[in-house]
Amino acid sequence: MSGKLYVLSGPSGVGKGTLVKLLLKEDSSLALSISCTTRKPRKGEVDGRDYFFLSRKEFLARKEAGDFLETDEHFGGIYGTPRSFVLKMLETKSVILEIDVKGGFSVCRALEGTGVKPVLIMVVPPDLQALKDRLRKRATESEEELEERFKRVEYELSKAGEYDFTVVNDELTEAKRRLQQIIKQTQQGEV
Ligand code: 5GP
Repeated sequence: MSGKLYVLSGPSGVGKGTLVKLLLKEDSSLALSISCTTRKPRKGEVDGRDYFFLSRKEFLARKEAGDFLETDEHFGGIYGTPRSFVLKMLETKSVILEIDVKGGFSVCRALEGTGVKPVLIMVVPPDLQALKDRLRKRATESEEELEERFKRVEYELSKAGEYDFTVVNDELTEAKRRLQQIIKQTQQGEV
């Protein structure tokens, strides 16, 4: 293995996606994992770029064969992080998994004994109330669904202590710089 595996988690709305895009743009030694899903492609989505789109039958066969580091169901579709794809990429690159806390812990368990030790990084908001206000503003959900979302945000944040690093996304450039520093130090084995 030449690269390191980074699990990037954090509540929705915290700006993970934007940070990941910036990291990938500025560092060609990094790659983003592509998940598998049974949901149908949306307009503009490309197989092998946005997701690997699988039939339910194909997905379950691969799951049975042990080819997922973790899987989960969302809105009736199954999603999973493909084991062989990620391990292959790690031969030449460091790989980022943008995944929730539950998925992050599952990936760690699945890789126990393989010699791959994921680095867990949690991106957190500077101010929980500000994040909630933002989610409320952009929300298309009902009040009940919004409350569910807030509970999830609080759950994710409560697990920050079990992560290796916490990065506060107060100012985007500063958060990106901190992430780049963590990546550099862990790649060099300094921390
Ligand atoms: P969407 O269908 O909108 O692209 O994604 C729906 C949900 O599935 C999002 O919350 C997304 O983070 C999650 N998701 C996407 N890929 C994976 C994966 O590989 N594993 C897990 N556990 N969740 C995923």
